[in-house]
Amino acid sequence: MSDDNARQETRFQGIGVSPGIARGKILVVRDDGDEVARHRIQSGDIPNEIARFETALIQTRAQILEMQERIAESIGAKDAGIFDAHLLVVEDRTLIDEVLRKLVADLCNVEFVFHEVAKHYAETLSQIDDPYLRERALDIQDVTRRVIRNLQGKAPKSFLAMAERHILVAHNITPSDTATMNREFVLGLATDLGSRTSHTAIMSRSLGIPAVVGLHDATDKLETGQDVLLDGYSGLLILDPTPDTLWHYGELEHKKGQVAQELSGLRETKSTTRDGRHIVLSANIELPADVEAAPRNGAEGIGLYRTEFLYLNRTTLPGEEEQYATYRQVAEQVHPHPLIIRTFDLGGDKLAGSMDSNDELNPFMGHRAIRFSLENVDIFKAQLRAIIRASAVGNVKIMFPMISGLEELGRALAVFEECKSELANEGQPFDPGTEVGAMIEIPSAAMCADRLAREIDFFSIGTNDLIQYAIAVDRVNERVAHLYEPTHPAVLRLLKMVADAAHTHGIWVGVCGEMAGDLALTPLLLGLGMDELSVGASLVPRVKRAVQTLTYSECQELVQQALELDTPSAILARCTEMAQACYAELLG
Ligand code: PEP
Ligand code: MG
Repeated sequence: MSDDNARQETRFQGIGVSPGIARGKILVVRDDGDEVARHRIQSGDIPNEIARFETALIQTRAQILEMQERIAESIGAKDAGIFDAHLLVVEDRTLIDEVLRKLVADLCNVEFVFHEVAKHYAETLSQIDDPYLRERALDIQDVTRRVIRNLQGKAPKSFLAMAERHILVAHNITPSDTATMNREFVLGLATDLGSRTSHTAIMSRSLGIPAVVGLHDATDKLETGQDVLLDGYSGLLILDPTPDTLWHYGELEHKKGQVAQELSGLRETKSTTRDGRHIVLSANIELPADVEAAPRNGAEGIGLYRTEFLYLNRTTLPGEEEQYATYRQVAEQVHPHPLIIRTFDLGGDKLAGSMDSNDELNPFMGHRAIRFSLENVDIFKAQLRAIIRASAVGNVKIMFPMISGLEELGRALAVFEECKSELANEGQPFDPGTEVGAMIEIPSAAMCADRLAREIDFFSIGTNDLIQYAIAVDRVNERVAHLYEPTHPAVLRLLKMVADAAHTHGIWVGVCGEMAGDLALTPLLLGLGMDELSVGASLVPRVKRAVQTLTYSECQELVQQALELDTPSAILARCTEMAQACYAELLG
C-alpha cells in the first residue's frame, strides 16, 4: 500500500465476530441518555418547559404502569414489584422541586436541567454505603433515560426504524435489538462493546451479518453518513478506504467466494474423519426462521435451539399453545434429523425488552436460565408441556441450561416427569422416550459430570459460559476479551473430565458453544472424543471439511500433547499447527 493511500484512511481495530465484508455508509446510533444538549431559554419560556416536564413525567408514569402490568401477567407480581421503585422516582418531590428550582435559576432547557439534577442525585445515592440506596440510584438512572426520551419526543432507537441499507455503528447492541431490527437494511454491525461470545455476536453470525465488536470508542470518532469498509474476518472497520484497500478486499472476497463455492458441494457428504469416526454436525438456531439454513448448509439437525429468543422481541412470554405450535413446526422442518430444544435461558446478556438490565449487578451469575425456570414453575411447565407435546413428531430432545449440580437437575427432571404424567392423563400424544440432556456450562457441573451422567441421556457443553466461569472472564466485556482463552489448560481439563464421564456412563456428549465452530480447535474437540459439534449454520460446511481431513487417532495424539503443555498460547499454537497442516485454506 502506498503512503498516500495509507494517509487517507483510518483503521479501527476490534474483534471480528461474524465473517464477511461489508461496504457502505454508516448509521451511528448513540445512547440517548448520553446526549442531552444544553440550550438557554428566556424566563418567559419557563411555564412551557414546566408543562413539557409534567407531560413527560405523566407519560413515563403511564409507561411504567403498563410495563408493570405486562410483567405481572407474564412473569408474576413479585417481579413486577421492581417497578414500584421506578414509580417512586417519577413521584419524588425532592427531585422534582430541585428541577423546578434549577430551571428558574439556570434558564436552561428542562431536559438538560433534569439530566443534571438526576445525575447528581443518583451519584450521591450510589456513594452511600447502603444497598437499598444504591439500588435507588440505578432506578433513577433508568427512569431518567426514559423521562429524557419522552422529553425529546424520541420513540424507539433509530436503527429499529431504519429504511435504508447501512452499516450500524453503536456503543452496544443488545440481543433484543438484534432480534427486532430490520435485518434487510443492516449491511454490517460494529460496536464499541462486546466480544466473540456475546449473544449479539452469536446472532450476527447466525444471521450472516458481518460484524466487528470491541471497538472501544469508535462511536465517538465516527459520524452517520461516512463511508466505511467492515472486515468481519479480522475485526477491522476502515473509514474512507483507499483504492488499494478496496482492491485488496475485492481480491479477498473473490477468494472467499471460491472457497464457499467448493464448500457448497459438501452438503450431502458425511462429517466423518479419514479413519472412519463419525461426528454429528448440527446447527445452532435462535429463531424459528433460522431453521432452513441448517439443511441448506448440510447440518444433521439442530443441536441447540435457544428458545429464549422467542421472548426477546416481545413483552410477554408465549403460552403453551403458541410454543407448542412453534416447536412442532420446527420439529417437522428438521425431521428426520434431531431437534434439541433448550428450555428458556433468560438473563445474562439476554434480557427481554421489558426486563430491566439494571436489576442485577452481575447478571451472568444471577437469576438466569434454570434458576429462573425453577422459581417460575408455571412458566417452566408451560414450556415443558409444549416441548413434550411437540415430541410426538419423533425427533425432539430437550435440555436444561446452566445446571450447576445434581439437586438442581433432579428438580428440573421432577417437573419434566410431572408434565409427562399430566399429559398422559390428558391423553395427549408424545414420545415417552424423549431424550433429556443437561448443558454443562458451569465448572461445578463439569466436576460432578460423573454423577450427572447417571441421570440423563446426553451432555451438551456450553463452552461460552464454561470458559467465562472457569477463568473468571466476563464473556461480553471487551476489556478482558483478550483474557478469554478457550485453550486455557483448565478449560481443556474440564472438557476432558466431561467427555470421559459421559463415555464411562454410556451417554453421548457434544459441544454447542462457539468453540465448536473455531476451526483451529476442531482437532482438539475431536481428540477429546466429542460425539457432536453444534455450530452456527453458516459454519457447518467448513467444520465438516475440517473433520473430513483429520484422523481421529492424530487428534487423540494432539490431546495427549496438549495436556502436557502449560499455557493457553502453547496449546493454541499446537492446535493451529495441525489445523494449518490439514486445511489451511479454511482458516483466517
Ligand atoms: C454456551 O454457554 O456455550 C451456550 C451455548 O449457551 P449460550 O451461549 O446461549 O449461553
Ligand atoms: Mg450458556
